[in-house]
Amino acid sequence: MSMLEIEALNVWFGKSRNRVDAVKGATFTVAQGESFGLVGESGSGKSTILRAVTGLAPTWSGGISVAGAKVIKKRPKSFFKTVQMVFQDPYASLHPRHSVDQVLGETLHLHGFRSIDDRVVKLLDDVGLGQKFRFRYPHQLSGGQRQRVAIARALAPEPKLLLLDEPTSALDVSVQAEILNLLADLREEHKLTYLMVSHDLSVVGHMCDRLAVMKDGEIVEIMDVAALRALQATHPYSQQLLQAS
Ligand code: ADP
Ligand code: MG
Repeated sequence: MSMLEIEALNVWFGKSRNRVDAVKGATFTVAQGESFGLVGESGSGKSTILRAVTGLAPTWSGGISVAGAKVIKKRPKSFFKTVQMVFQDPYASLHPRHSVDQVLGETLHLHGFRSIDDRVVKLLDDVGLGQKFRFRYPHQLSGGQRQRVAIARALAPEPKLLLLDEPTSALDVSVQAEILNLLADLREEHKLTYLMVSHDLSVVGHMCDRLAVMKDGEIVEIMDVAALRALQATHPYSQQLLQAS
């Protein structure tokens, strides 16, 4: 089964003369359990695709299906039990005055879970933080620890599909690998499907099964990571990207 189907997706911002066509005719499918990468230079439309899936980019046309169900413009709460997103910058994505306990507890409550205390403890263990971080505030955490909290929050509703928007690029190089390893472990343990944006081909080579290369809002190539490793890109832009890394 495919977990995500994107069909002839167009996403734009603004009107008439100010209109920006951020994504143009993107089509790809992510199988259940697969990790799929989106690469391309800054401004090529990668984040916009993720934002269109979660409803953060309101003007789009084309088809988006998640777990076999067509996504409609007004997403029901149940949608976010299936799909969650992790943003690039954990400094911006966590409320400074909410403790870790509040962030996770409120998310669990919102999704109708019971035994919230036990679940908070479990989530903190799952992301390798543990109990001692439970009552801390974001300013009492390192960048890597904050991103672990953001990942725990995304896992709280027990989603099937995680949208990861450059989840390590705001972090120190020394902790990037730790977070990537955590994400790889979580995918296995929780049988997750990933759609992961990165501008770093080595990250995608390490984390993904297949990838799409984007340029100026369009997908110019879809390939296996094996082809990436073998430097076998057919589109000239992909070749350029490979050579540059
Ligand atoms: P990427 O993630 O690949 O760096 P984005 O998806 O963020 O690229 O952006 C794609 C294009 O859409 C860029 O030209 C960007 O300026 C434009 N864009 C993104 N968000 C908005 C917005 N909210 N309003 C207007 N233009 C936007
Ligand atoms: Mg982006």
